Amino acid sequence: GNAPTIYQLENLTMRNTPSLENYWMPFTANRQFKAVPRLLASAEGMYYTDVDGNKILDGTSGLWCVNAGHGRKRIADAVARQLTTMDYAPSFQMGHPIAFDFAEKLGERAPGGPDAKLDRIFFTGSGSESVDTALKIAIAYQRAIGQGTRTRVIGRERGYHGVGFGGISVGGLVNNRRVFPMLPGTDHLRHTHNPERNSFVKGLPAHGAELADDLERLVALHGAETIAAVIVEPVAGSTGVLLPPQGYLERLRAIADRHGILLIFDEVITGFGRLGAPFAVDYFGVVPDLVTTAKGLTNGAIPMGAVFSSRHIHDALMHGPENQIELFHGYTYSGHPAACAAGLATLEIYEEEGLLSRGAELAPYWQDAIHSLNGLPNIIDIRTIGLVAGIELSSRKDAPGARAYEIFTDCFKKGLLIRVTGDIIALSPPLIVERGEIDTIVSVLGESIRRIS
Ligand code: PLP
Repeated sequence: GNAPTIYQLENLTMRNTPSLENYWMPFTANRQFKAVPRLLASAEGMYYTDVDGNKILDGTSGLWCVNAGHGRKRIADAVARQLTTMDYAPSFQMGHPIAFDFAEKLGERAPGGPDAKLDRIFFTGSGSESVDTALKIAIAYQRAIGQGTRTRVIGRERGYHGVGFGGISVGGLVNNRRVFPMLPGTDHLRHTHNPERNSFVKGLPAHGAELADDLERLVALHGAETIAAVIVEPVAGSTGVLLPPQGYLERLRAIADRHGILLIFDEVITGFGRLGAPFAVDYFGVVPDLVTTAKGLTNGAIPMGAVFSSRHIHDALMHGPENQIELFHGYTYSGHPAACAAGLATLEIYEEEGLLSRGAELAPYWQDAIHSLNGLPNIIDIRTIGLVAGIELSSRKDAPGARAYEIFTDCFKKGLLIRVTGDIIALSPPLIVERGEIDTIVSVLGESIRRIS
């Protein structure tokens, strides 16, 4: 028969059936995967097509990043134009207009409201780099204002902040931490997930705001004068869609303020419309000092991240002699021209199509559809907010995670991409999703959950 055509691009010397040996895959059980690979070949709108020509409905926006849907020509054209005009230019003691343009446009749309806009933008290459950047900015800021003893950074249990040494140190996932040394002096708030008091909740759990007081415990334990910042995901995504209890983020902000501790929101997932507002800052009305982003920033088309900083932090670091570099930090690809082009085109799409608020319109439908799975075998919790859902299954005692993984592979065979961590299924479709596609997600997933049990 016809060999599958993996590559859509012409004039590239790539084989249709490459060996799978050389690519050491990230966050993958390499041997298991390579025995039964799942290979995607093309993508358009809400769908991937695999190398055998099967269509797969994207229930996860790739990895939470393709918020405007796949194959956006406007982004591709902008990137192509930029690459043929100027492929690369350094951003150290040099500049190029498109990076300033993108930063200005992001600044105009930055979260935080008129008095506290987080509109000073530091570009990075990924979410992990954004996290490490924000932690370093926080520590540098504290030193700049005469608080040089504040070097400790606080994260939260069950937090995910990428895989840099900073990110895994403030992160709360044992598998990502156990074989590596950590940044000294980090500590963690308790996580906010309480299935006994909050389960099958639509939107924010009612109970648990007082968990923010755990920051007081860490202040009492370490001394406020040692703590630079606390970083949390407003909604923890990768660790299973854990929602903040009502009032929790407000309380955390107040405690951080009381002790001179900066608050960082990691919005790598929640940024750019996932909750039905541009940022979680807008959704919750709680303004941190720094916001980390990536993913939806460029619709996933080109790797890029950005840290949104408040002016007071930025301005505090703009001191000393003017010929001196203020922050000894940056990446070869900070402000990469092609990434900026992708980001600018992405912002235009978000705006013209109203995608950053579309999640709010669809949330009630989404929520009811997902919660209709309640009652299927082994489901012990369902959580929804904006266009995100977490569906938690009871674990098989002999094989934690196996049940959800089986559902994941079964759904893929039936043409639906979901994401699983442990025994939690996470869904986050592109923000262009239609009601009919939501129905498909729910029916295919429901069928799999029934079958696997
Ligand atoms: N922070 C959060 C909240 C994330 O969800 C992720 C990735 O999923 C990251 C950081 C890391 O981003 P990246 O994989 O681009 O380094």
